[in-house]
Amino acid sequence: MTYIREAERHVPVKGTYDLIVCGGGPAGVTAAITAGRLGLRTLLIEGQGCLGGTWTAGLLCIVLDTAGKAGFMEELQDRLKAMGGWMHSHNPHRRYRFVYDPEIMKVLLDELCMEAGVDVRLHSRVVSVVREGDAIKGVITESFGGREAFLGRLFVDGTGNGDLAACAGCGFDHGHPQTGQVQPASMAAIIAGVPDDVPFMPYSADKDALRVLLQEYGVDPTYQKPFLFKLPIADMWCLMMNHEYNVKCDSTEDVSLATMRSRGEVFRAVQALRKAQGWENVHLLTTSSHLGLREGRRVHGRYTVTADDLANGRKFPDGVCTVRFPVDIHTLELQAGVAATDEGIAVKPYHIPYRSLLARDVRNLGLTGRCVSGDFFAHASYRVTANSVAMGEAIASGASLAQGDAFAEDAGAAVGQEMAKRGYEV
Ligand SMILES: Cc1cc2nc3c(=O)[nH]c(=O)nc-3n(C[C@H](O)[C@H](O)[C@H](O)COP(=O)(O)OP(=O)(O)OC[C@H]3O[C@@H](n4cnc5c(N)ncnc54)[C@H](O)[C@@H]3O)c2cc1C
Repeated sequence: MTYIREAERHVPVKGTYDLIVCGGGPAGVTAAITAGRLGLRTLLIEGQGCLGGTWTAGLLCIVLDTAGKAGFMEELQDRLKAMGGWMHSHNPHRRYRFVYDPEIMKVLLDELCMEAGVDVRLHSRVVSVVREGDAIKGVITESFGGREAFLGRLFVDGTGNGDLAACAGCGFDHGHPQTGQVQPASMAAIIAGVPDDVPFMPYSADKDALRVLLQEYGVDPTYQKPFLFKLPIADMWCLMMNHEYNVKCDSTEDVSLATMRSRGEVFRAVQALRKAQGWENVHLLTTSSHLGLREGRRVHGRYTVTADDLANGRKFPDGVCTVRFPVDIHTLELQAGVAATDEGIAVKPYHIPYRSLLARDVRNLGLTGRCVSGDFFAHASYRVTANSVAMGEAIASGASLAQGDAFAEDAGAAVGQEMAKRGYEV
C-alpha cells in the first residue's frame, strides 16, 4: 500500500455544544430530539440529505418490537397517524410492529428537530475527532463547505456503523466471533402495480410463494424469503428480496459493488414478475438511496449484552427498555430455501442496560442504536428500530444527568427510572 501525507490545515470551528450526536438514524435522531427537549444545546450531524437513516434513506418502512415502548415511540406513531403516514401491520400474530410512509417520516423528523431546537447539519460526514486524553473535544466533518469542526462536552455515536467511536480510537468487534462474517446487507425498494390478492403483510408461506414465482421467471432471489408489504400510500408496496454477503461497513469497495449488484438484482426481479399472470403492471418506483447494512462495528462499552443475557431474560437495575425480538441472523452465505436462523437461542424478554450505551474507552462518548455494546447474537435481536428509539431516549436522558464532560455509569438507575416514567417497560 502506498500512502501520502496530507498537509496540515486550519479547520474553522463552527459551533460549541453540550451534546453532539453523529448520525441521524432512528437512534441518533431520537437522542438529539430528546436532548434538545431536555434543554441541552444539541447538534445533529447526518451524512445524508435527510434524517431517519434506515427508516427513510434505507426505505425500511416497518418498525419492529414496539411492545412495552411508549415514550417517543408512541409520540412518533401519533404524529405519523395525524399526518396519514401510519398503518398497522395487518397480521394479528405480529401486533408489535407498524408500517409507515418514509416521505412523511422524513418531514416529521425535520419538524421534530426544529421544534426541539436541535441544530441539524445534513450532507455532513464525521471524518475525524479531536481527542484529548480519554475525552473527545470535537468532531471534524466534510461537507459542501469543506472541513469544519464542532466542539462539545458530550458526544453520541448514532452512525450505526460506529464511525465516531472508531475515529476516536475505541475498541470494537465486528462480525461473527469465529468467522468474522457479518450479516448480509439488503436493498429495499418501493414498487407499484401489485395484484389485488397479495396479502398486505406476508406470512412465511407467502414469502416462499414469492420466491417460487420469481424462480419460475428466472430469478433466484439471494434473500430466500423475499417479501412484500403494503405501505400506507395509494398503490405502493415495499419489496425486500436480496442479500449481499459479508459486506464490511469500512470497505468502500464492498459497499459500492454490493450496492450496484443489489440495484440490478431488484430491477431484474421486478422485470421478471411482470411476466407472471396478474403482475403485468408491476413496476419499480425507487430503490433505497443506500444499501442497508444490518451489521457494523459493535463498540466496546462498559457492559456487553450477550446471548446468555437473552436466553436467561436478564434484567438489570440500569435497564433502559425490554427487548422481545428474536435472534434473527440472516444466513451468512446463500443457502437454498433458508433465509435466517436463531442459532437455537430462545429469547426471553431482556433488558438493555445503560452501561452498554457508554463507550468503554472514551469517558464522554455515548452509543445508541446498531453500534452499542453487544455480542454478535445479541445484536441480531436488539438491532430492530423500536429498540434504537428507546436507546436514543435513554442516552439523551443520561446526557442531561452528566456532570461536566463525562457520562456517569452510576446514573444508570436514574436513567432507568426516567425511562419507566416515559412509559418504557423496565
Ligand atoms: C436490510 C435491513 C432490514 C432491516 N429490517 C428491519 C425491520 O424490518 N424493522 C426494524 O425495526 N429494523 C430493521 N432493521 C434494523 C434497523 O434498520 C437498524 O438496526 C436501525 O436502523 C439502527 O438504527 P441506527 O440509527 O443505529 O442506524 P441507521 O439507521 O443505520 O442510521 C445511521 C445514520 O448515521 C448516518 N451516518 C453513518 N455514518 C456517518 C458519519 N460518518 N457521519 C455522519 N453520519 C453518518 C447514516 O447516514 C444514517 O442516517 C433492518 C436493517 C437492515 C439493514
